[in-house]
Order: sequence, then structure tokens, then C-alpha cells
Amino acid sequence: MENCLFCKIASGDEASEIVYKDDHFIAIKDINPQAPVHLLIIPKKHVGTLMEIEESDKDMMGSVFTVAKFLAEENDLEMSGFRLVLNCGMGAGQTVFHIHLHLLGGRPMKWPPG
Ligand code: AMP
Ligand code: ZN
Repeated sequence: MENCLFCKIASGDEASEIVYKDDHFIAIKDINPQAPVHLLIIPKKHVGTLMEIEESDKDMMGSVFTVAKFLAEENDLEMSGFRLVLNCGMGAGQTVFHIHLHLLGGRPMKWPPG
């Protein structure tokens, strides 16, 4: 989608630190990391928010967790634990309206989140 930051990063039109790529996803380092490991797992397909996913996105949305598991292992987070966050809508703090899953790890996580 035009003028979407994560579409531009996925297509290579905008620079970013890409740490993972497959047919359906890229993962990048967050530009403003909130933990020693802070990655964003981004589908190549433009979907604005979780509220816009469709039945046909079911497989893609399921496989995002396989990517998260792979990246958690790659960053040695299995034992220490890690957090996955999906902000949906402005009220939840979503700032980039192309769906993405945050993977945060490398420090103790508090609950409830802010
Ligand atoms: P959210 O608030 O859930 O929409 O998350 C958007 C995230 O994208 C934030 O954590 C930002 O720090 C991050 N971000 C914004 N621009 C970039 C960029 N150019 N490269 C990497 N991460 C970015
Ligand atoms: Zn997009």
C-alpha cells in the first residue's frame, strides 16, 4: 500500500535492519527498542490492524507464531522468556497501521503492561 512505512520496508523502498525474511514475513529491529531484543514481525501483505484480518489471512496469522518461536530461539530467549505484543488501534498505542507483532526480550517483563 502506498505511503505505508512497513510496506515500503518490506519492498525494500525504505531502509531498515532486516533480521529475517520468508515468503510471507519480514522481521526488523525496532528503531526505538524497549528491550535488549525488540523485533517487529511484519507480514508482507498489507493489513492495517487486527480488526481488518479476513478468513483468508488465517494461515498467515497462525504462522506468525512459528516465526516468533524461530526468532526467540535465535536470540536465546527460550529460557529467560519473552513477550509478544500486538497493539490494535490508537487507544492501544498502535502507531504504524500495518499489522505487526512485537517480540521483546532480554530483560524482566512487568505485568500489567502500561
Ligand atoms: P506500534 O506502536 O505497535 O504501532 O509499533 C510501531 C513500532 O514501529 C514502534 O515500536 C516504533 O519504534 C517502530 N518503528 C517506527 N518506525 C520504524 C522504522 N523505520 N524502523 C523500525 N521500527 C520502526
Ligand atoms: Zn502496509
